[in-house]
Amino acid sequence: MKNKQLGIYVHIPFCVRKCIYCDFLSAPCTRAVQEKYVEAMLGEMQQVAEEQAEILQKYQVFSIFFGGGTPSVLEAEWIAKILLKIRQLFRVSEDAEITVECNPGTIDEHKAQVYFDSGVNRISFGLQSANNTELQMLGRIHTFEEFEESLRIVKAAGFTNINVDLMSAIPGQTVISYKNTVQKVLACDVQHISSYSLIIEEGTYLEEHLEEFPPLPDEDAEREMYAYTKQALQEAGYQQYEISNYAKPGFVCRHNLSYWERTDYLGFGVGAASLFEECRYTNLSDIEQYIQLYTPTETILEAVCNTVKDTKTQSERYAEWRVLSKEEQMEEFMFLGLRKIEGVSQRAFEKKFQVSMQEVYGTVLDKYQKNGLLIIDGDAVYLAPHGIEVSNVIMADFLLT
Ligand code: SF4
Repeated sequence: MKNKQLGIYVHIPFCVRKCIYCDFLSAPCTRAVQEKYVEAMLGEMQQVAEEQAEILQKYQVFSIFFGGGTPSVLEAEWIAKILLKIRQLFRVSEDAEITVECNPGTIDEHKAQVYFDSGVNRISFGLQSANNTELQMLGRIHTFEEFEESLRIVKAAGFTNINVDLMSAIPGQTVISYKNTVQKVLACDVQHISSYSLIIEEGTYLEEHLEEFPPLPDEDAEREMYAYTKQALQEAGYQQYEISNYAKPGFVCRHNLSYWERTDYLGFGVGAASLFEECRYTNLSDIEQYIQLYTPTETILEAVCNTVKDTKTQSERYAEWRVLSKEEQMEEFMFLGLRKIEGVSQRAFEKKFQVSMQEVYGTVLDKYQKNGLLIIDGDAVYLAPHGIEVSNVIMADFLLT
């Protein structure tokens, strides 16, 4: 039987300090809490592997992603310990992509070496900007020079697959400053670059104090930044494979791609989301509750295991849990898949849902094809360059429920 692909996401919710725009589940924490958290997460992995043992036989893990938060604030040996546990519990492919997200300034030679020796083969840096004034304003803990030093360290440890995350539309950012960031990062010779627009999320410090910050770049400036990213990166040999993601040939991120292709994945850790066998669920977001639930003392584990199938325990374990309807699966297929530059396949849609894409989405496809925002080329359906600019509006039209 052909192996089904499975991704594993490991959430490390710790950061040195909170950035002003961040609404991720992350916070500074003591070493003692971090240690308890890691132990609890190993307990969760054990429990899930036991519960799903039969189904998991048909899966092989092709991607493991340590995200956060800042996974690199943990002791490197704990990352190695988690990886070992994953390998013991799941069938991990020999060539699995294994990524650790790092923040510049939180990685040293020892950590980089332990990661490398334990099989981590991809590092993702949250840089955001090469302008130190912008970095400081965002509440980032590092300067551009510290990023360069962290990059030197991971390259010296042997890493040859490195991503850098950038951010556009930062308060006060000019097109010139953004272009300068892109140029500085291109000079760093990395294999993958992501560039996302800053979104002002509700409840963040930035949202609550917006008037105290320099004005946000206007729409024209944002459009220019996006166009520049695309042009400069393509000229430098990066291929755009998703709205905000660019890779040198052979370095497309499997973890990212699997999300847009709806490959099954299991998320571990507080607030982590999973998509498994067409069921979407999200772990509890309270770290103390999470630790209590999964700390693998015999009593707790036994109590959880004995009641795992009843709905009450399910609601105790997850913040959200639901089986996706066929319509929801179709929606996701379209609005996640259309984020990819190559778009979606009509044949794959029909194979999965036993109904043609035209039958379900004919009117929407026709509308956007006629106004030039969407292209249908044989089997492929993808957004035209102008369609990408208004992708949020187009995606919303693919909702069925
Ligand atoms: S480093 Fe990342 S996860 Fe941590 S606070 Fe900043 S944006 Fe949030």
